[in-house]
Amino acid sequence: MKKYSYPDSCGHFGPYGGKFVPETLIPVLIELEKTYLRCSRNRDFKTEFHALLKDYTGRPTPLYPAEKLNAMLKGPKIYLKREDLCHTGAHKINNALGQVLLAREMGKKRIIAETGAGQHGVATASAAARFGFECVIYMGEIDMKRQAPNVTRMKLLGADVRPVLTGQKTLKEAVSAAIRDWVASSADSHYVLGSALGPHPFPMIVRDFQSVIGKEARSQILKAEGRLPDMLVACVGGGSNSIGLFHPFLKDTKVEMTGVEAGGTGATLGMHAARFFGGRIGILQGTRSYVLQDIDGQIALTHSVSAGLDYAAVGPEHAMLHDMKRVNYVKVSDAKAVRAFRLLCRIEGIIPALESSHAVAWVIKNAAKLKGKLLIVNLSGRGDKDVDQVVSFMGKK
Ligand SMILES: *Cc1c(COP(=O)(O)O)cnc(C)c1O
Repeated sequence: MKKYSYPDSCGHFGPYGGKFVPETLIPVLIELEKTYLRCSRNRDFKTEFHALLKDYTGRPTPLYPAEKLNAMLKGPKIYLKREDLCHTGAHKINNALGQVLLAREMGKKRIIAETGAGQHGVATASAAARFGFECVIYMGEIDMKRQAPNVTRMKLLGADVRPVLTGQKTLKEAVSAAIRDWVASSADSHYVLGSALGPHPFPMIVRDFQSVIGKEARSQILKAEGRLPDMLVACVGGGSNSIGLFHPFLKDTKVEMTGVEAGGTGATLGMHAARFFGGRIGILQGTRSYVLQDIDGQIALTHSVSAGLDYAAVGPEHAMLHDMKRVNYVKVSDAKAVRAFRLLCRIEGIIPALESSHAVAWVIKNAAKLKGKLLIVNLSGRGDKDVDQVVSFMGKK
């Protein structure tokens, strides 16, 4: 792991990644990649991006010692990376701002995005409003119901939220609708993809914009503890908050990494969204990775109590890190995530996103094995959006 320089120039992470898109999108992706590479080396662009992260988003987010949780668990020493304190409530804003700046550089006038939990939609709608872009957000009808407050927020921010009624009516169908729009509108529109997914260069761009999480965490833990952590823990939906935390530590071979997937209600296909527990290599929405699919290669149904983790594919870089055994991928059930959600509310006075609660739940479950270890757990977002979901989940039990 001394040398880590992925993706290659064609967007491959080992056998994963790539650009599996309609021919018309190839020049658009090339334009995006060129613009990104130019901007990422440009001092003015970087200064503007970092000023936004600081004064608009509220970065750096704190690295918070979870003393009450630590005292209760009597196991690891846990710090929470407080992405829940970002403007708009999750890490998503880091990437949305970066990509909206790229859209402006490319002279686009319109922003398209998809959203599952609604967090990426809210972040993109905010960034679009801030820079005066027209904004269209695709969202599955089911997700619109379970994340209703975020739909209202997007509308208040001036976005046109379009319900997607096909298939399972969740994130996968919303991504397809956004891609369909983009194929027709790419001359004047930029598609702000919300996770470390999709065709090259998206997984690289999203990772790099989110790496601010790991860069900050690294200097914060060195300052607080005088050493690197023993382990990083983050939930994995498409994989952006996790790769953002992990990436700046990948060369530190002694830092272990745990990615937590949604175990849902059981191990049977259709009951979860744990791609490394039953997924096979396949292509979904522009990239090759681990995909939950049936024996005929049809994309499987997925389930998670948290909309943000409910997706059939995982980002291609995670697929490679899984095969390299650099990151250990695990899963946590709906019930355990909800229990961790409630515990963090009561014991630390923090309402975490249900997505982030999966990471916390894994640590709670494994506290005895992690005794004495120094951990950074990414609290990817806040749970205001999830309170109705949690109440209804508790009602069912
Ligand atoms: C979207 C979201 C996730 C999952 O997406 P990743 O790309 O895997 O980070 C996790 N947590 C929160 C709070 C989210 O909004």
